[in-house]
Amino acid sequence: IKNDGMETNCMVTKNKRETKGGFVMKIIMLGAPGSGKGTTAKVLAERTNLPHISTGDMFREQIKKGTELGKLANSYISQGNLVPDEVTINIVKDRLGWEDAENGVILDGFPRTIKQAEALALILQEKGKQVDIVPELVVPDQVIIDRILNRATCSNKECGAIYNTKFKPSKVPGVCDKCGSALVTRTDDNEEAIKTRLEVYRENSKDLIAYYKEKGVLVTITPENPNAENSTEQVINTILEAIKR
Ligand code: ADP
Ligand code: ZN
Repeated sequence: IKNDGMETNCMVTKNKRETKGGFVMKIIMLGAPGSGKGTTAKVLAERTNLPHISTGDMFREQIKKGTELGKLANSYISQGNLVPDEVTINIVKDRLGWEDAENGVILDGFPRTIKQAEALALILQEKGKQVDIVPELVVPDQVIIDRILNRATCSNKECGAIYNTKFKPSKVPGVCDKCGSALVTRTDDNEEAIKTRLEVYRENSKDLIAYYKEKGVLVTITPENPNAENSTEQVINTILEAIKR
């Protein structure tokens, strides 16, 4: 596991503030679709007791409910394109106002553009806060495509467990090990949409990575063997160590 972008500063510890519930910590997970950022964010949320805020999950929830926002979002998501900044920024702004976000948050899938990153900086600034750490997961394209094409997600929103029908199958095919709900395939997990999603990520992530590197909060993580069973665990440990510094 490589780790750069952190050597020359101590921004992470500098901005830590103790509160009743623990530390104020705003973490942003960066990584291509299928890089494992969602899985990592979920585990990290459990360990740190911070809420996991995934814009993708929020949009999928709206789509499932059939709301106007869901319909709008779906027209972009199904094609592998980004939902417009204005719409996305608004839902995140609202979510960051919830009480459970006071001690920090783990953002997954947001920001995805510089405009979103700047909006986030402003939202946090109004609360006297800023982004503390930005772990970036780097995983080869072939691993990503293989993963996404074999991805199955638990349909129970409270659970959301993620499986890989090839590398990490559920015990009973199509059924979640943890909660017994049906496993589903995301509609944007098809070859066409994946190609677009990877392109969109590559295009936008360059600027985002430069933006957070410049702020001294980027931690680049390249898992040695991304498909190993303990890979998520290793990534989590690297992040937790970086937080302590
Ligand atoms: P993945 O990283 O695997 O693509 P996500 O669940 O993070 O999965 O996002 C799924 C889709 O939701 C994206 O392809 C995009 O269309 C939309 N989306 C999620 N987050 C954002 C965001 N911050 N800005 C714009 N669109 C977003
Ligand atoms: Zn489940």
